[in-house]
Amino acid sequence: TLAGKSAIITGSNSGIGLGIAREMARAGANVVLNSFTDREEDHALAAAIAEEFGVDAQYVKADMSKGDECRDLITKAGGCDILVNNAGIQHVAPIDEFPVEKWDAIIAINMNSTFHTMAAALPVMRERGWGRIVNIASAHGLTASPYKAAYIAAKHGVVGMSKTVALETAQEPITCNAICPGYVLTPLVEAQIPDTMREYNMSREDVVKNVMLTRQPSKEFATVEQLGGTTVFLCSDAAAQITGTTISVDGGWTAL
Ligand code: NAD
Repeated sequence: TLAGKSAIITGSNSGIGLGIAREMARAGANVVLNSFTDREEDHALAAAIAEEFGVDAQYVKADMSKGDECRDLITKAGGCDILVNNAGIQHVAPIDEFPVEKWDAIIAINMNSTFHTMAAALPVMRERGWGRIVNIASAHGLTASPYKAAYIAAKHGVVGMSKTVALETAQEPITCNAICPGYVLTPLVEAQIPDTMREYNMSREDVVKNVMLTRQPSKEFATVEQLGGTTVFLCSDAAAQITGTTISVDGGWTAL
């Protein structure tokens, strides 16, 4: 169990990040939720987790596209035993048409934020004598697809950075790994199903299996609960010697 541990999860007011925060709280960790907004509903999410799981939960606003705000998040959280870098965005375009501002934003949010939060969190973990870093990369941290140059560069960068930090902490009770999800059913993905059904005149089942999950041999989405469970495992004693590696949760995508 993770009772008494403090976990910071970036980009956790929806989707995978929220799923991870909930599973961490279920395992007993106190959690810090984050995104770049500061709405009542963001704070309500934290309050609901505290209520449901009987842990401390707070929401801290910080924009992961800004290096100083990434570092401030660690300070403001008031403790960091577990750091989960999950914030991420996507843009799809051929490289010769890729908008420069989208490139910069994706590299900043999906990759540079991980550098800044890890740099700020490691001294805190060292002082407390224990730490776990889990970086949410992607199957696109290990393989490529056309039209996603920025995302794929950033996710490959996160995988490489995770290995480096694992080597820098190898003789300390700190581990650093990356999880590589395939297609995960988040509200974002769910919302695309009706439009795609109309566009292709296909059933929901056909859209899921033959459009969305063409590269996922299981033909099933991964779930946010499974991502949360994998993260909790990487924070457990059983995973103390797992460092500098990737765990794919992708229904066989990277076996192809
Ligand atoms: P999502 O859009 O539901 O979640 C992204 C989260 O990041 C949100 O909480 C959002 O508020 C936050 N975020 C965005 N910009 C931010 C910023 N500037 N500062 C702080 N927070 C910011 O998407 P998701 O599917 O849950 O994705 C979460 C992570 O998982 C991403 O890194 C994504 O690349 C990765 N991933 C997703 C899938 C998938 O199929 N859904 C597959 C592989 C990897």
